[in-house]
Amino acid sequence: MINSIIFILLWIAAIAFFTWNVKKISRNIKLGKDVDIKDNKKKRWGLVMKVAVGQSKMFGLPISGILHVFVYAGFILVNIEMLEVMVDGVAGTHRALADIFGFLYPIAISAFEFFALLVIIGCVVFLIRRNILRLDRFWKPEMKWWPRLDANIILITEVVLMFSIFFMNASDYILQTRGVEHYKEVGSFFLSSFFVPMLQNLPSETLHIIERTCWWLHIVGIMVFLNYIPYSKHFHVFLSFVNVFYSKLAPAGKVDNMPSITKEVKSMLTGEEPPMEEEGEEVSFGASDVKQLTWKHLMDSYTCTECGRCTRVCPANITGKKLSPRKLIMDVRDRLEVTGKNIDKHGKDYVDDKSLFEYITNEELWACTTCNACTNACPVNIDHVSLILELRRYIVMEQAASPGELNAIFNNIENNGAPWQFSQDDRMLWADELYINEK
Ligand code: SF4
Ligand code: SF4
Repeated sequence: MINSIIFILLWIAAIAFFTWNVKKISRNIKLGKDVDIKDNKKKRWGLVMKVAVGQSKMFGLPISGILHVFVYAGFILVNIEMLEVMVDGVAGTHRALADIFGFLYPIAISAFEFFALLVIIGCVVFLIRRNILRLDRFWKPEMKWWPRLDANIILITEVVLMFSIFFMNASDYILQTRGVEHYKEVGSFFLSSFFVPMLQNLPSETLHIIERTCWWLHIVGIMVFLNYIPYSKHFHVFLSFVNVFYSKLAPAGKVDNMPSITKEVKSMLTGEEPPMEEEGEEVSFGASDVKQLTWKHLMDSYTCTECGRCTRVCPANITGKKLSPRKLIMDVRDRLEVTGKNIDKHGKDYVDDKSLFEYITNEELWACTTCNACTNACPVNIDHVSLILELRRYIVMEQAASPGELNAIFNNIENNGAPWQFSQDDRMLWADELYINEK
C-alpha cells in the first residue's frame, strides 16, 4: 500500500514539474512574432510522417540513421512495458499483465528485451563515436562542456535503464523458480536468461533487492528522464514532430518579402498613404533579438538536436569560416532562455540591454552563402537561412552597417538599377561591334 502511494505521488510530482517546464518553453516560443503557417495541411502531415516519424533525413548518413532508429524506435517500444509497470505500481500487483496475455506474455517481454538490446547497441556506438572516435561535428567550438555532457548523460542513462530491465527480469525469473512469494511463474525471457548464471548463486533476499532496485530505477529513471528533457537538447523528442509540421513548404531559396517594405513600395507605386500601423505594433526591419524573430524561429531553436549535420555540410564552415549554422540555432535558444528567465524574475515587460548580436557576430552572418545546404541536411527541417536573413536585414536596414562590398552594390543598384558600376545607358555597349546590334 505504502509503495503504491509513493508511486502515485512520484508520478504526480513528475508530471506536474514537467508540465511547469513545458509551459515555460511554450511561453518562450510565444514571445516570437506571430506568423500564419496553416496552409496545405495535407502536405504538412505527409512531411511529419516522412521526416519526423519515418526519420527519412537521418538516412543521409546511413550508419547514424540506422543507429538512431535503434534508439528512437527501441526506446518507444521498450516503454510500452511501462503500461504494466504503471498497473503494478498503482495496484501493488506483480506482472499484472501476465494473466491477461498468457503464453504471449513471455514472447512480448522477450521482444521488448530485444528492443532494449538495440537501444544499448545504438547508445554505446554513439558514445564511442562522440568520445573515442571524436567525430569532427561533435567537437566543433560550440560543442563545449554542456552540449557534450548533455548528450553523454542521456546516452549513459538510456544504457543504464536498459540494463536495469535485463537484471530485473533475470532476478525475477530466479525468484520465480525458487517459489518466492509474490513472484508468480511467468517463465523466462530470451535475452535476460543470459544474465541468470551471473545471479544464480545469490541469496533470495539479495535477488529481491536487485529486482526491486531495478524496477524502481527504471520507473524513477523514466520520471527523471522526463524532467531532464526540457533542460536538454533532447526536447526534440517532442518538438520535432510539431516543428516538421510547420516546415517551410516554399522552395528553399525563396526569400520572404518584408511586409513593412512591401507596404512602403506599394504606397510609392500607387501614391497612396501607407496603411497606419496597428496600435502597439512595432515596426522593425529584420531582427536583433528573439522577440523580433517569429515563433517558428524560436521553436526551431528548441527543436535543434545539436547533431551538427548542418555545420558538416556548410561550405562556409568547411572552408574555415567562423560560421556554424548549428551554433546560430543554439545561440537563439541560449538567448531565448535568458530572456525567459528575465521575464520570470522581473516581469514580462523587462528589457535588458543585450541582443542576439552579443551571441552572433557579423562575421558569422556575412559568411553565409544562403546555399541552403544546412536546411536541406537538417533532420528536423530547421530553417537557418531565414534566421540569418532576418539578422542581416537588421544590420543593413537598422544599423546601416553592411560590409563595404555590399555598400558598393547598394549604391550601384540605387544609381544604375543594377549591381554593377555602369550606367543603364551603357548596357548594350558590349554588343556594339556585333551583328546583333546593327540589326
Ligand atoms: S545557407 Fe549559409 S549557413 Fe547554411 S550551409 Fe549554406 S553557407 Fe552554411
Ligand atoms: S539545426 Fe538541424 S542539422 Fe543543425 S544541429 Fe540542429 S538539428 Fe542538427
